[in-house]
Amino acid sequence: MAIYNFSAGPAVLPREVLTQAREELIDWHGSGMSVMEMSHRGKEFISIAETAESDLRELLAVPANYKALFLQGGAHLQFSMIPLNLLRGKQTADYVNTGEWSKKAIGEANKFCSANVVASSADKGFSYVPAFDTWQCNKDAAYLHYTSNETIGGVEFNWVPDTGDVPLVGDMSSHILSRPVEVAKYGLIYAGAQKNIGPAGLTIVMVRDDLIGQAAPGTPTMLDYKTHADSDSMYNTPPTFAIYMAGLVFQWLKQRGGVAAMEQTNIAKAGLLYGAIDASSGFYNCPVAVSDRSRMNVPFTLQDSSLDGEFLKQAEEHGLLQLKGHRSVGGMRASIYNAMPLEGVQALVDFMQQFARRHG
Ligand SMILES: *Cc1c(COP(=O)(O)O)cnc(C)c1O
Repeated sequence: MAIYNFSAGPAVLPREVLTQAREELIDWHGSGMSVMEMSHRGKEFISIAETAESDLRELLAVPANYKALFLQGGAHLQFSMIPLNLLRGKQTADYVNTGEWSKKAIGEANKFCSANVVASSADKGFSYVPAFDTWQCNKDAAYLHYTSNETIGGVEFNWVPDTGDVPLVGDMSSHILSRPVEVAKYGLIYAGAQKNIGPAGLTIVMVRDDLIGQAAPGTPTMLDYKTHADSDSMYNTPPTFAIYMAGLVFQWLKQRGGVAAMEQTNIAKAGLLYGAIDASSGFYNCPVAVSDRSRMNVPFTLQDSSLDGEFLKQAEEHGLLQLKGHRSVGGMRASIYNAMPLEGVQALVDFMQQFARRHG
């Protein structure tokens, strides 16, 4: 029986990548060493890191005036590094509140400045993206931060806010590389790797050059983007194995036609799953506004929540793992990142239809 893992993160990795990593685990390219055993300053690892960076830049067409940094500390550390580096003497920054991850970013920003919440979807349980013409933006904000895919609520922006001269900052942790993105519209993009890139331990930051080098006085060296930009992300020991794995995923994406091709598959996968939910005559429900439904994280509830336990148990028996919804939302959540094949979504949909027939 095929096993499909719908975890929100750490999450499924491409089977081909895991197989390649296994083959290279003990002896990387005849070097006699595992990647885990290499000096990060040796020629072998430098070539791994350089290839990973150039592949990432190619996949997302990152303009030359942006740095692509490979950091640690997760997306959570970016909640602090962004105000520390991007406030540049200003007292306030704009934030959009679309759910759990926005709230955490806002909470942390308030330690460094006054975070101005320009729009919120709290009134309807974070089930939609507030229309741009309702946002109360501040022209003097140091930057505007938003969460372009809310992993827990399953709410995704399918448009990019136009903030004019105010640098736009996007938390893309759970949908980076799932679709093309116009990097030049952003001042900074960040993503923890463990959703749609690779193993935990690596955080990707793409930041425009002019936003580097103005960190607040007293900023710890490790929290200053300049430190990492000036040293090719090798100021200290980077998460070498996670970078290697991310590099293999980048190559896998390139072999499959890059992010534009990936987007088409993701549209097909999400369409299949939402279609099954919507066609279930209310047996399953997705609480998210149709126009803002995430292609990556699909939350759904059973009309009769007393069946939740039975649904999860039987799903597991069918090889469909980690479908339990986040504790703050309840119900189910299927995360269908790049590495989830269409067959996995089809298997889930088949099971859901069968379950509804038996219990409807
Ligand atoms: C998972 C996630 C985070 C937190 O990531 P960590 O790497 O655990 O710090 C932040 N934002 C979003 C959108 C996420 O999905």
